[in-house]
Amino acid sequence: MNKKEQSLSIIKPDGVSRKLIGQVVKRLEENSINIIAMKMIHMSIKEAQGFYAVHKKRPFFNSLTDFMSSGPAVVMVLEGEDVIAKYRKLMGATNYKEAAEGTIRKDFATDIEKNVVHGSDSLESAAFEIGYFFNSFEING
Ligand code: GDP
Repeated sequence: MNKKEQSLSIIKPDGVSRKLIGQVVKRLEENSINIIAMKMIHMSIKEAQGFYAVHKKRPFFNSLTDFMSSGPAVVMVLEGEDVIAKYRKLMGATNYKEAAEGTIRKDFATDIEKNVVHGSDSLESAAFEIGYFFNSFEING
């Protein structure tokens, strides 16, 4: 049986500066995904490095964390049945060139790094990522 899950979504700095907040939120709402918390933040380089600590050995770590701290981003908590997989399907593959038609990354991303959105990839990462940005008073589940 499916159960209610939560996922962290980020509209990355490229999505905010390119005025794509509305487009991303529209797709979430059209797909019956509940947004139960939402705010705009501007990560410091240290905060971006902490968020992406799992990638610290990857060759793109410095570039990715520079990018993620380059401007404001919108962080959201999503909730629903199978929301982790459902939202990742809506986002599309990491590399927009490989993303399926109709996905957020296929339609809006310009670069493998500047790919508009982030979504948690497991229950464990969702718990870490949501706790990284939100306290319990900010989440309206
Ligand atoms: P995601 O779960 O689809 O976001 O992908 P990953 O967890 O593998 O990577 C995290 C983020 O790192 C991606 O969303 C991209 O912004 C960036 N990224 C992934 N692969 C590459 C790469 O090969 N080069 C660069 N520059 N950035 C990458």
